[in-house]
Amino acid sequence: MNSQTRSAPSLTADDCQICGACCNYSCEWPRFSLEDPATLAQIPAVYIDDENGRMRCDGNRCTALDGDIGVKTTCTIYEARPYVCRDCLPGDEACMIARQHHGL
Ligand code: SF4
Ligand code: SF4
Repeated sequence: MNSQTRSAPSLTADDCQICGACCNYSCEWPRFSLEDPATLAQIPAVYIDDENGRMRCDGNRCTALDGDIGVKTTCTIYEARPYVCRDCLPGDEACMIARQHHGL
């Protein structure tokens, strides 16, 4: 645990809809891991960075993210999102680092 990371408040999936910080933290983050081809095929090709094996990003922001960080955000491929995105849970360490980065 990063000693600079704040202690986790109680966050829920509802908070994600006004956050989006983890989706705009690092282009290295939304990488594919154990997804099989059929799972990846559910993600529109325009959002996939084949060369780097991850979601296509604009800077650090995943191109599948819609909306404004800290105001209202939506993952436009939510049902097909990569495993790393499913594993980031509101209030966990990765979440808190991303939120802190955005001043949330
Ligand atoms: S940083 Fe945390 S609260 Fe924000 S969208 Fe990601 S998981 Fe949800
Ligand atoms: S795929 Fe969806 S949940 Fe994952 S980083 Fe992109 S916008 Fe966020």
